[in-house]
Amino acid sequence: MKEPIVRFQDILEAVRAYMPDADTGLLRRAYVFAAVAHRGQLRKSGIPYLSHPLAVTKTLADLRMDIPTLCGGLLHDVLEDCGVPESVLREQVGEEVTGLVVGLTKTAKVSLRSTKRRKLESYRKTLIAMSRDIRILMIKLSDRLHNMRTLYSLSEEQKKRISEETLTIYAPLANRLGISWMRSELEDLSFRHLNPDLYEEIRQGVEEKVKAKAEVFKKVSEILEERFRRENIPCEISGRVKHYYSIHRKMVQQEIDLEQIFDLFAFRAITAEERHCYQVLGIVHSLWAPVPGRFKDYIAKPKPNHYRSLHTTVFGPSGDCVEIQIRSRAMHQEAEHGVASHWIYKERAGFDQKDEATFRWLRGVLDGLQEISSPKVFLDAMQLDLFPDQVYVLTPTGEARELPRGSTPVDFAYTIHSEVGDHCAQAKVNGKLVPLRYELQNGDVVEILTSKTQSPRKDWLKFVKTADARAKIRARVRREEREQAQALGREILEKGLRKSGLHYAKLLKEGDFQKVLKAYRLKGMEDLLRAVAYGRLSPAQVLDALPREEPEEEEGAWDKGFERLVEKAEKRSDTGVRVRGIPDIFVRFARCCHPVQGEEIIGFITRGRGVTIHAKSCPKTKEGEPERWIEVQWDEGGVGLQRAKIRVISEDRPGLLAGLSKAISAVDVNISQAKAWTTGDRQGVAQFDVMVRNLEHLNDLLHSLEKVKGVVAVERILH
Ligand code: MN
Repeated sequence: MKEPIVRFQDILEAVRAYMPDADTGLLRRAYVFAAVAHRGQLRKSGIPYLSHPLAVTKTLADLRMDIPTLCGGLLHDVLEDCGVPESVLREQVGEEVTGLVVGLTKTAKVSLRSTKRRKLESYRKTLIAMSRDIRILMIKLSDRLHNMRTLYSLSEEQKKRISEETLTIYAPLANRLGISWMRSELEDLSFRHLNPDLYEEIRQGVEEKVKAKAEVFKKVSEILEERFRRENIPCEISGRVKHYYSIHRKMVQQEIDLEQIFDLFAFRAITAEERHCYQVLGIVHSLWAPVPGRFKDYIAKPKPNHYRSLHTTVFGPSGDCVEIQIRSRAMHQEAEHGVASHWIYKERAGFDQKDEATFRWLRGVLDGLQEISSPKVFLDAMQLDLFPDQVYVLTPTGEARELPRGSTPVDFAYTIHSEVGDHCAQAKVNGKLVPLRYELQNGDVVEILTSKTQSPRKDWLKFVKTADARAKIRARVRREEREQAQALGREILEKGLRKSGLHYAKLLKEGDFQKVLKAYRLKGMEDLLRAVAYGRLSPAQVLDALPREEPEEEEGAWDKGFERLVEKAEKRSDTGVRVRGIPDIFVRFARCCHPVQGEEIIGFITRGRGVTIHAKSCPKTKEGEPERWIEVQWDEGGVGLQRAKIRVISEDRPGLLAGLSKAISAVDVNISQAKAWTTGDRQGVAQFDVMVRNLEHLNDLLHSLEKVKGVVAVERILH
């Protein structure tokens, strides 16, 4: 685990590669100064101390930093560890470099014995000191990286403390600066020291799994390379194993084990130009089906740390999930070097910090945060800005809440209490009313106004971000839908029973429904009412199962044909009709006019019970508040049967019912209810509830019945 020793020569070579004209005189002076200052000093590992500033400076050179920063890297420990006076340093290397070194020295050292509060205070000082000049931060990060790489010679206690601090502060800082390799390395090193057993377990597990899939990965590479060659797209393919800490984090966050993580390995396709990225994506998706929800376009919408790439996961050969990240060479450089890649070295102009919009976030954040008095709140806030996937907001009493980025006031309301979430009616952000779908920003002060009459709405699901809010809204919406369905079912059933002279409440009291529950294997009344509401059970079916005497008006003149037809109809669902734009459970058909598909319809919004569909010709459409009438149309794909009521008046003569039955089956219509009786003046009346496909089908039926011998009149009942 030995670090290769960096020589000053290596640094000079690295610098020449990106700054061929650089004046290295200052750098040499800094090197000599550091060598003299650290002479005779050894690191804990027994290696000459100078190896440390050299290694730190090499990292800075790899990040293409300017000469003063590299000098700062060489000299970063001389003031503190060697007792060199500041004035001597200033004499030797000048004001700029000295300023960086002094700034670094001021970053507070956290004592092992310090209380949590003092520790937090120290973090805060460190961050504020570093924010004065982004170069101080870069030196500090490189310093920390080398210390982490050489942590093995320290005590267990020191290892743990330094690793914890690295995970809390430095890895997120590296991420925020967009230096992905440094973040990964810092995280993995910390993870390894904080939890060696788990680290080893994951490392081995990943190695085995990746080895097992080696053939698949090889095949993917070959297929892609071949295609790129054929289509003349300049693109290089490489593969890499995801870093262990990120795998561990995913396991913890999603509460899954290693077996369930399929993206342990990712391909990287690096193209010459941005436009090739989308061509490559097209090829990948044409070869293998993309896994839904896994495509991310960070080119069109870069991450907050400026990261750009296309990410996709496809079902690769033999069905394995394969992740592919596609980026141009320039994007790749940025992802590797982060902010450093934005630093433009104009000839001899060096690094001009004022140009760098990229760092404004850090200055802005820290400037704002210096006002915060509590170190805990400060750190929380800092942390959240370091984690670009989160936002940090405050309650009106100044309590901090942490939410995923993109969260809304509704998410916030649910973090307070589920009651607050459920009754969240309005939201104020920084004193102003905002829509409930407003995207919360860091530092927003959020106030929720509740209302007793408010309840979670289904469309909230479209914008909430937190799993907790989502789950609670779903549960409430489901409960309400059930309640509405029960109310609707009860209404349908009551009416159906009333027609047969029965009373729902009375039957309920007498326990008569028990037979129905048993007959249809229902768990309880609620179940029964819902079955009626959703059309799984018709009132006629309920009637059939009730213990009761035949209603008096029904005569015994049933033909076998009717019974068969009734049976047939009951086996079919009488729902299945969709009205465009409205979830079907909220749609019901007015029992006055029973509109059928094909006729013009209009919807009436009922309070709490969805939409009732009437025929436009229905007299009821003249009633009710005009704003509650809405335009609706039949869904073109709508299939299914709808109920219509018809009445046939005929001469009272034998065989007539048989004739009607024949006429009905001739046009393939099913009957769900039928009644027939004779009137005093020797006329027969037959009333049917029929199930028809649409208006045309209904008209066919009416015509067919009119032709039956003895029929006097056929009419549709519209009330
Ligand atoms: Mn150091």
